[in-house]
Amino acid sequence: MGVKEKPAGNSDLEPKEKNSSKNLETSYEHIQEVRKSLPAYQVRSELLQLIRDNQVVVVIGETGSGKTTQLAQFLNEDGFCNSGRLVGCTQPRRVAAMSVATRVAMEMGVELGNEVGYSIRFEDKTSKDTKIKFMTDGILLRETLVSEMLDKYSCIIMDEAHERSLNTDVLFGILKNLLSKRRDLKLIITSATMNANRFSRFFGAAPQFTIPGRTFPVQVVYSRHPVSDYVESAIVQACKIHLSTPVSNGDILIFMTGQEDIEATCAGVYEKLLDVYAKRSGKQQLNQPEDIEILPIYSALPADVQGKIFEPTPNKRKVVVATNIAETSLTVEGVRYVIDCGYSKLKVYNPQIGLDSLQIAPISMASANQRSGRAGRTGPGFAYRLYTEDSFFDDMYVQTIPEIQRTNLSNTLLLLKYLGVNDIMAFPFVDPPPEQIIMTSLFELWTIGALDNFGNLTELGKQMAAFPLQPSLSKMLLVSSQNGCSEEILTIVSMLSVPQVFYRPKEREKESDQCRTRFFVPESDHLTLLNVYSQWKANSYSSHWCRRNFLQFKSLQRAREIRRQLYTLMNKKKVPVVSSGTDWDAVRKCICAGYAHQAAKLSGLSRYTQLRNGLELRVHPTSALFGAGDLPSYVVYHELLLTTNEYINTVTAVDPDWLMNYGVLFYNVKRRVEDEEFYTEEIHEKPKDSIDMMIEQFEMKKNIITR
Ligand code: ADP
Ligand code: MG
Repeated sequence: MGVKEKPAGNSDLEPKEKNSSKNLETSYEHIQEVRKSLPAYQVRSELLQLIRDNQVVVVIGETGSGKTTQLAQFLNEDGFCNSGRLVGCTQPRRVAAMSVATRVAMEMGVELGNEVGYSIRFEDKTSKDTKIKFMTDGILLRETLVSEMLDKYSCIIMDEAHERSLNTDVLFGILKNLLSKRRDLKLIITSATMNANRFSRFFGAAPQFTIPGRTFPVQVVYSRHPVSDYVESAIVQACKIHLSTPVSNGDILIFMTGQEDIEATCAGVYEKLLDVYAKRSGKQQLNQPEDIEILPIYSALPADVQGKIFEPTPNKRKVVVATNIAETSLTVEGVRYVIDCGYSKLKVYNPQIGLDSLQIAPISMASANQRSGRAGRTGPGFAYRLYTEDSFFDDMYVQTIPEIQRTNLSNTLLLLKYLGVNDIMAFPFVDPPPEQIIMTSLFELWTIGALDNFGNLTELGKQMAAFPLQPSLSKMLLVSSQNGCSEEILTIVSMLSVPQVFYRPKEREKESDQCRTRFFVPESDHLTLLNVYSQWKANSYSSHWCRRNFLQFKSLQRAREIRRQLYTLMNKKKVPVVSSGTDWDAVRKCICAGYAHQAAKLSGLSRYTQLRNGLELRVHPTSALFGAGDLPSYVVYHELLLTTNEYINTVTAVDPDWLMNYGVLFYNVKRRVEDEEFYTEEIHEKPKDSIDMMIEQFEMKKNIITR
């Protein structure tokens, strides 16, 4: 990633290479022209005046009107970054933060990381010269922990506020309190058309500014029958469009839910087109189709690959297959056809059974309309919805439920407690989370020892809040320091914070699977990850070695960087980093400590039952646990994937005694003595009323929740 062409000054442009459309597209002059043509540019001075006159402004505009890329530049040009202060711009997604920072740096003709930078978890690309800083909303939230007044910012832009991501919603409350203390701080909230009134009201009738925009009509085409396989339907639809219209008619944007179905769609379109072309020409054609460029976009994709979606593809039709990041965050110009699968991945929390999972769920009507609208930016377009009109009206919510009302809040509540917000219910939420979610999340924090009986942060809780990790991982890390194996857990936690490290190319699945088994530690996927890292280290962190072993070099590199940062943080917090040598049980005990609430017991052939809620689970087929014949009686797991099966992912065998020890609040042990020497042990969930009793003892209901 970097700036493609850097002018030395406005009048001193570098010579352009002839006949290179790419160079033309990225030349400084051209970019300035494009900038000036954006709707936001037309209203620049009015907008700036409104911002000067008000502390909070809500800016509304069609997607692609220039809110994200232009606003921060306007403010910089207007002097908001004088005397060393920053304009900060938050994004709900990492990919967007990196991508827009890259774009803005290019528009300003500066190197990314200097005047324009970005910061995402475990990656800070800013410097002392930075004036415009793009970051995830999670980063700004963490910054409030160390700098309560956010002194270094003169202005904060909360971008994509309509997405209602958890961190954005929490920041709203924090900033609302902060604005009265810092009268000089400006807050700009940008939103697509939905939700804007709410934001104005929340900030005491803040003025709204609408960027006038132009869009073209989009014809919506519904599926006549319910679709059983949306990937297959999308492939068929994309090929139909491509084969029946000239390439110059426009590009195709396909909405899918995540990496897996995106990759399947990309591969499927290629395959199908090759088939058709081979039949047409009567011979076997092995190369790629020449008139099409298919580009995936999802968060785990490396930044340089993501950037490709913006590059022009002369004489080829571009097909972008994306997650809902392309709904509002990123605008691909030239799209005339949208194909919408009707689903997205959602984090969902069920407080009754304390279950957090990633689910594929129908999108909302608002999302569906936003997706369709992407086809009408450059001319009239078409949106193919891979669902029936009935299901649009019957199955979809009008608006997406804000994340704060449907996810586990233990991490968020830990931060709020750390910030001194004791009465959670009195915190100003735009939409308050359901009380039951607050209760169970507080309860979870209590069970892992982050809160005391009165709902105050414990020492452990305070330490946990300092780590940018989910509570189970920060707990694991802190316990490991006492158990003498923090070197090992540090590696495991870092490996859990990166995308898939094993690489499984389609043509070489068998070979790569075999290779993977060589790293297996049969009692634990966590130890398997540790093993991969240790061997990589022993091979001098070599990329060549990764390729040979079907490992993603970039993921490992990232894990190494995360490890370095967590290591520094541990030193700073005076948490000892020690190694247990080859005492793997010590490591597994810590893993058990972190996930004691996510334990399961073998209940049949490769089937497990969750100990706390009785849910039937299966170990994911890629697990190292299958490498050793019999499956262990008790396991803890990192995450639960709800697809067609309920799979648990990244699993470790544990001793029931450890579960008793670390999960003493949840579990009872029953010993059945069969004769003098042998007895069997069974772990059970404590009876429900005893847990209720504990909650009462915890006095949450009385002291914390009610005012
Ligand atoms: P908004 O935030 O209002 O949706 P943006 O500021 O993101 O709009 O986009 C404004 C314009 O800049 C759009 O036409 C978009 O296509 C273009 N753009 C944004 N990022 C890039 C990029 N990395 N490369 C090329 N064009 C881009
Ligand atoms: Mg935007």
